[in-house]
Parts: sequence; structure tokens; C-alpha cells
Amino acid sequence: MDHVLTFMDYHIFTPYVYSGSWPESNVARQILSLWIITTLGAELIYLGFGALNFYFVFDHDLMKHPLFIKNQVKNEIRLGSVSLFWMSFPTVGLFYLEIKGHSKLYDNIETQGLSGVILSIAGFLFFTDMCIYWIHRFMHHKSIYKYLHKQHHIFKIPTPFASHAFHPLDGFLQSLPYHIYPFIFPLHKMVYLSLFVFVNIWTISIHDGDYRIPGQLIHLINGAAHHVDHHLYFKYNYGQYLTLWDRLGGSYHYPSALLAKGPHDDIQKLKQ
Ligand SMILES: [Zn+2]
Ligand SMILES: [Zn+2]
Repeated sequence: MDHVLTFMDYHIFTPYVYSGSWPESNVARQILSLWIITTLGAELIYLGFGALNFYFVFDHDLMKHPLFIKNQVKNEIRLGSVSLFWMSFPTVGLFYLEIKGHSKLYDNIETQGLSGVILSIAGFLFFTDMCIYWIHRFMHHKSIYKYLHKQHHIFKIPTPFASHAFHPLDGFLQSLPYHIYPFIFPLHKMVYLSLFVFVNIWTISIHDGDYRIPGQLIHLINGAAHHVDHHLYFKYNYGQYLTLWDRLGGSYHYPSALLAKGPHDDIQKLKQ
């Protein structure tokens, strides 16, 4: 995030936003700048990729499903945008620690070598997949579900805009593994930024109603077909990228959509 902050300072904040008397090294200015970058960046990724997905991938026929609620898209966008706004506050605290050099992020690819970079990508995906599975399962515990996670499950037939529609605390807790990883393990800064964009796009994609997954990967990858069953039946498929932790945790459910029992099949039956 230090490179993003330096870039924004140089091209936008210093020449156009702040007065010349507020130095770039000032702590309050850095925190405010990080908050602007985090909030705008997250909203842009969410609304930008969400809209692209909604118009070009999402099957609008799903909006005819009886469980698709009135004004759903508007409600998803409102909850998602407000949640990202509030989530930015604690996230900025972690980004600030990161720009102050407390993380294990590095600049030079030679530090870990190419094999180290590839291993760190695999490590990041494995670590975050595992943590999000257990945090998500914890969110379904009956003592906590109705206070936080229920907001995401209002949408039984989600659209791409449901991807970030969480209670802000739920959203922040589920994003924590992404931010904690570089404080525990070494990670190249550009790889971190790219993975951050990737995980957001992935989250959008598992809500897009495109249930296709190539060949045998259906057993390995947790896609939209798996995640729609999570929205419909609650106690299955808590995973993020892989089905691994659902299989180990006994919550794996083969996608109904691939057994001709999914939302599209419900709509077809209603048409007959
Ligand atoms: Zn859930
Ligand atoms: Zn979801």
C-alpha cells in the first residue's frame, strides 16, 4: 500500500487535494489518504466488476425466481456499499501498520526468488481459504448468526452485488485473513495487490449465477453452483475457492444446479 500512497500523493493528493503546508509524512494526512484510497478502491472494484458481471455474465432470468426479493439488486448495492465504507476504518489501521514497515511485504523479487513468489501465492490462497471457511462457519453459529451474518443470507438467489453485501463487522472479519497473511509470511508487494483484487473478483464471481466449472474441477473448485446452495440451504459449502475445507469439515454438498435441481430448474418448472 506504500507504493499506492506514494503514487496518489505525487499525482493527486499533493498537487490537487491538500494544502502545501501539510507534509506527506504527517501521520493524520497518511491515515486520511489511506482511508480515501481504501474506500474508493474497494467501492470501485465492487461496483465496477459487480456491474460488468451483472450485465455480461449474470443470467437475468434468475430474477424471475420466486425467492428473488423485491428491490433485491438495490438492497444488495446499498448494503455492499455501506459495508465497504465502514470496513475501511479498521482496514486502514492494518494498512498503516503495513506502510510503517511492520509487515513482511517486500519489494525486490530476488528477496525470495521466483519459486518463493509462486509458493507465497499458493500459501496465501491456502491460508485465506482455510481461515475464511472457519470464520464463515463461526458466523453461522446460532448465538451470532442473527446479529451479523443473517444480512448476507437475506439474498437466497444472489446477484454479483450480493458479494460484498454483509454487516460491516462480518465483512471485516471475513477479510481479516487477507490482511493478516503478510504480517505472518513474506509476500511481494505487487503480488499482494494483485491477489487483493483477485479475491474481490472471485467473491463477486461465486455470486454470479454462472454455474459452469470445467470438467473435473467441479469437485475441487468452490464456484457459484456451490455457493448458491450455501445461500439456499445455509449449512453447506462455506468455502471460498476450494471445496477442500467443506470436505474436511463435513459440510460439502454437490451443487443442486448440476443435478437439475437448481434455481434455473425451479424457474423452468414454473413456466410449464
Ligand atoms: Zn453464510
Ligand atoms: Zn454469499
